[in-house]
Amino acid sequence: MRSDKSLSERSVDAVRRLREAGIHFAITSGRPPRGMEMLVDPLELDTPISAFNGGLVVERDFDEGFKRFEPARDIPQHEHLLCTVCGRVTEFQDERLERITTLVAERHGYLRQRHRLVIHGVCASCRSGSAIN
Ligand SMILES: [Zn+2]
Repeated sequence: MRSDKSLSERSVDAVRRLREAGIHFAITSGRPPRGMEMLVDPLELDTPISAFNGGLVVERDFDEGFKRFEPARDIPQHEHLLCTVCGRVTEFQDERLERITTLVAERHGYLRQRHRLVIHGVCASCRSGSAIN
């Protein structure tokens, strides 16, 4: 990237050649996501952008027709609430879910290993009519 934040033809061409060779190209920066938005169109990026110096990301597929990515953290099992209006994803933990899913698994003769729960609904700010999310 040039000092005026524009991209050289050479950079754009290099990324295009990587894509043509079947190599995934992603950008990582110490900038916030908005500080990299100007690169998305010129480089035709369709990979996750890693902001604030990145880190590991994990893929989350909520059957929305696209995939989301969230930072990989050493946190225990957590569940997700997905707002069907604004698309906000909220994480929560509730140890009761560990117990109930173990009981359900046992009732069906399963040794419980893990579970996945996504609650679809309308978030508080969408319910209150607030446009700010
Ligand atoms: Zn919402």
